[in-house]
Amino acid sequence: MPELPEVETIVRGLRRKLIGKKIGPIRVLSRQVVVDPPRRFRQALQGAIIREIGRKGKFILIACDREVLLITHLRMTGQFLLVPREQAPDKHTHVIFDLEGDACQLRYRDVRKFGWLAIKNPEEGSRSLLEALGPDALEITAAAFFQGLRPKKRAIKSLLLDQTFLCGLGNIYVDESLYRAGIHPLTRADTLSREQALLLHRHIGQVLKQAIRAKGTTVSDYRGPEGIVGGFQRYLRVYDRTGEACEACGALIQKSRVGGRGTHTCPACQPLH
Ligand SMILES: [Zn+2]
Repeated sequence: MPELPEVETIVRGLRRKLIGKKIGPIRVLSRQVVVDPPRRFRQALQGAIIREIGRKGKFILIACDREVLLITHLRMTGQFLLVPREQAPDKHTHVIFDLEGDACQLRYRDVRKFGWLAIKNPEEGSRSLLEALGPDALEITAAAFFQGLRPKKRAIKSLLLDQTFLCGLGNIYVDESLYRAGIHPLTRADTLSREQALLLHRHIGQVLKQAIRAKGTTVSDYRGPEGIVGGFQRYLRVYDRTGEACEACGALIQKSRVGGRGTHTCPACQPLH
């Protein structure tokens, strides 16, 4: 699943290509991925000029003139691709945006179809989805992070995955950050010392920034908008490394389940107190 670094990489790629472009005719090939009625979706976006492309957590926000905002969540296997218009769409391409005067089209492709696209018009006051999100994992300050943890009795891993607490992190970067901070994923958030919380905050920031520089992690379907493959999998220390030796101590990386999610830890470097 694309997490903050992958979504940020996609946003930067789209920004380079799409700012100032006017959206032409739109084809909705699968209604399942479009939240709005397709006709309304097409009418809102066709002819609109793309002004800004950003993200909140793992949501991609494409702001156009006429106060139209296109919100997308890629979920498991969603992809935004820039594809030459003469290239025939495959069966996993669900929405095609023509771009006026451009040889490429913007295409939404999604093998499992759990992702979605939606139009939000601010006049309708329908931003609650975004308002419910916690602060972005790259923007929260160390002090706010520590204060946020203090009243929480939940396991730290489950809390970090909760997008209403902090948005942008998913399974890969939570496991990597907790390992680097030497914290067991089942540790109750309110039992972390100030030092542990600050260390964890620092590692979350470092891991995310390093992953953005590497253009994300590709372990399954993630691709950047120009089809590029991420490079952060080279730097993974626990995720996807079950049974391999920990780089720090040589103990074997273990896989368990925390809150229903596959969880990777070093039993020696991340003791559960
Ligand atoms: Zn270790």
